[in-house]
Amino acid sequence: MLRCLSLTAEKDTEKIADIQRYAEYIDAVEVRLDLCEAKTPEMVGSVVAASRHAGCGTVVVSYRRPQDTADGSPGDWDRRREDLRRGVLRRVLQPGVTCVDLEYDVTDDELREKAESLGIRMIRSVHDFTGIPGRLPEIVRSIAAAGDIPKVACSPQSSRQVLDLVRMCVEVRDVEEKIILGMGAFGFFTRTAPWICGSMLTFVSAGEKKAAPGHIGPRELEEVYGTSRHGKDTVLFGIIGNPVMHTRSPHLHNRWFADDGIDAVYLPFHVDEVGSFMELAETIGVRGFSVTVPHKQRIMDYLTSADEGVRRIGACNTAVRRRDGWHGTNTDLEGFLEPLRDLLAEGRIRRALVIGAGGAARTVVYALRQQGIGVTIVNRTVEKARELADEMGAGWARPEAAGNAVGTPFDLVVQTTSVGMEPDIEGDPLPLLKFSGSEIVYDIIYAPEKTRFLTRAEESGCRVIGGRRMLHAQAELQYTMFRDSCNLWA
Ligand code: NAP
Repeated sequence: MLRCLSLTAEKDTEKIADIQRYAEYIDAVEVRLDLCEAKTPEMVGSVVAASRHAGCGTVVVSYRRPQDTADGSPGDWDRRREDLRRGVLRRVLQPGVTCVDLEYDVTDDELREKAESLGIRMIRSVHDFTGIPGRLPEIVRSIAAAGDIPKVACSPQSSRQVLDLVRMCVEVRDVEEKIILGMGAFGFFTRTAPWICGSMLTFVSAGEKKAAPGHIGPRELEEVYGTSRHGKDTVLFGIIGNPVMHTRSPHLHNRWFADDGIDAVYLPFHVDEVGSFMELAETIGVRGFSVTVPHKQRIMDYLTSADEGVRRIGACNTAVRRRDGWHGTNTDLEGFLEPLRDLLAEGRIRRALVIGAGGAARTVVYALRQQGIGVTIVNRTVEKARELADEMGAGWARPEAAGNAVGTPFDLVVQTTSVGMEPDIEGDPLPLLKFSGSEIVYDIIYAPEKTRFLTRAEESGCRVIGGRRMLHAQAELQYTMFRDSCNLWA
């Protein structure tokens, strides 16, 4: 499996420098002539020389038409420009070039002849920026039958289309040499784990400009996803959410797998519909996954068993495949309690105020009630506070009742709303609340590391706890479950 750097730097000299800079992370280089200042044999010659020097054995030459790029449309692309483009492609072919990429819908006998005379393979490409080609297996087979390498870069728009794409790839798994990649958030995992679609190559871009939607940098591909170390025997884990691309969880889990010498990878799956993802998980053999917003409740419909905490809270953040089906756990529960363990053991917490009544608050209130702590809930939508309080045997109050000039009567204040979270970091969920300085104040938001609410509490003399500790603790628990599941199936 090749990691191919698409050269996207603005200046041609920078493109050459990028090959050297990322040498240890790449096996192939793509010269996109449409992105080059000089579309000349000399430019391609420089790339060939730099690639050889960097130890990259594969050089791909392409020259995209506007309609084959993410932000381009045919515009004034006419016969004259097309002739010029093909002329350039023919002219730059030279020894050292491994493949030339020509779109599937055009033919060019002269280009083919020249490529063949130099021993250069032809990649025949299809780009679809609005969906997935329904005829994908047929296209792949017809290209392969001609002795060329099929390349399909498409844009699944839903979890259902992702599933369709993967199923089509299964149909053509006997075609060994092919490149099939899903662009954008839905297709992201096909770039970081390209063997899932049977791809022999995945593309990366250096710097700000990306050659196609969903490209990541060469260093990230290797250091976060370890793509060169993995293949079809690698055990799959991941996280489902919408949105999910911002998650840092792959950084943690993949590092832990690498440290433990386990051939497994943890991937972000952008999911709009849980049912289709569950079919995908069965198709590609996902062994376990984290669940984030907004799927923590929905996932429960697909579990065959679940911990008591999951059933009581009504939310699951971890699913692990057992022989008899999916088992659900909620590691947020233990993760939330972890920073409080010593304080709980010392009996320092008797009364707690919980701000918020959303999904995370359910876990927090349940965890505190399990510890025998008296809880009062305040929430913008008072009705939700009342409902949660009734369900969990807690009290509730209106936000306006939280204003108290002499400080709160609580040992612990837990902030569980999304107010103050990046990017709106100025927000304060309960400005009326005045701290006495003796409270322990815990904000479960992890980005930023210290919210405005926590800063205010700290300035009042309170001991504060940020959300990162919970995040890490719950992730460590998930990791333990994932790692153990590898042993279970081994
Ligand atoms: P959620 O289910 O959508 O609940 C959001 C809560 O925030 C509700 O109580 C909502 O009140 C309140 N809220 C939203 N906007 C508000 C505003 N402008 N003013 C006052 N209250 C407002 O979300 P969630 O899943 O509980 O997540 C909440 C936060 O917890 C997020 O920041 C998330 O990142 C964090 N979290 C952290 C961890 C961790 O490991 N550290 C784990 C899970 C969650 P209404 O009911 O009135 O809408």
